Order: sequence, then C-alpha cells, then structure tokens
Amino acid sequence: MPSPRLQVELPPWVDGFVDWQRHYPRLEDRMALVVELGHEQVRRATGGPFTAAVFERDSGVLVAVGVNMAVPAHNCVLHAEAVALMMAGARLHSHSLGVEGMPAHELVSSCEPCAMCLGATLWSGVARLVTGATKADAEAIGYDEGPVFPESYAYLEQRGVAVVRQVLRDQARTLFTEYRAAGGVIY
Ligand SMILES: [Zn+2]
Repeated sequence: MPSPRLQVELPPWVDGFVDWQRHYPRLEDRMALVVELGHEQVRRATGGPFTAAVFERDSGVLVAVGVNMAVPAHNCVLHAEAVALMMAGARLHSHSLGVEGMPAHELVSSCEPCAMCLGATLWSGVARLVTGATKADAEAIGYDEGPVFPESYAYLEQRGVAVVRQVLRDQARTLFTEYRAAGGVIY
C-alpha cells in the first residue's frame, strides 16, 4: 500500500476572516486577532481551541495564522503554533524565520505551547514568543501540555528567544470554556 500524501490547508473560513492588510502595532492587537480567530474556530467547530499567528516583530505585519487541526486532519502535530509556523515558512519560502537579512519574527499563541510546539518555536528561528492563556489554563480543562518546565523557557531565552506571557490571558482562556460548552473533544 503506498504511503498517503499529506496536504496542510487551513479551514476555508480563515482567509475571509483575517484582515491581511491590517498592521498590528501592539502585542494586545496581535493577541486580540489570535483570540478572535479562536472564537471563530470554536463557533465553526473546525478543530481544538488553540490559535496562533506569526508577525514581523517590529512592524506588526501579519505573516501567517494557524489553528489547531489535529483531530479533523488526523494529524497529531497540527497544533495551532506548528501550523502557523508551517504557513509562515511556506509564505516566506524559508525553513527558518530567523535568516540573516529577514525581519525578526514572533509567534503569538492563544496558549502557552505544548512541549512539541515549544521545540518548534526554537527551531523556527522566531525572535519572540507571545502567549495568552497559561499551561495551567489548558490543563484545567484536560489538555496535556507534555514535558514543559521552567527550564524549557529559560533555555529558549538563553538561545535568544524573548518570551512574553499572559497577554490578554483572561480573553484567551475563554476559548477553553466556550469549547467545552460547545461539547468539543478534549484529546
Ligand atoms: Zn502544541
């Protein structure tokens, strides 16, 4: 039996929902977009209650967005952060978002990343990670974030990735309560 072919595509509503021309100067503007994307993701039931985006850190230009698609795509690695990083790489035609001569990039995530996505954050070359809800918020509804330790963040920062946490946390964590209320699958 031949190996399956994979194609990663965001749910069709995403491109119509996102204002690609807008600039997002403040971190709160960037997180607000990510949280709005999350509300829409929950309303449309196109995956888990996690969303993310990649921006140019200094200008606030939006480069890519990602939503969690693990369950509908039958793909355990399609977490929102991983999808946003994949989409950014595809848009910029580069495996790394930290190549010499490129503007610095940042990953903005509705929640503190799981172990896999924290690893992907490092390999992606982003200069900054910005998060909304906390690991404890995700675990409180039954998600497992895996082996993420204070040392994991310290290591990231030692490697030059700045970390800003709990931006619009209260708004971001409402995604979990909405998702649970909608009867979404916790996996
Ligand atoms: Zn993840």
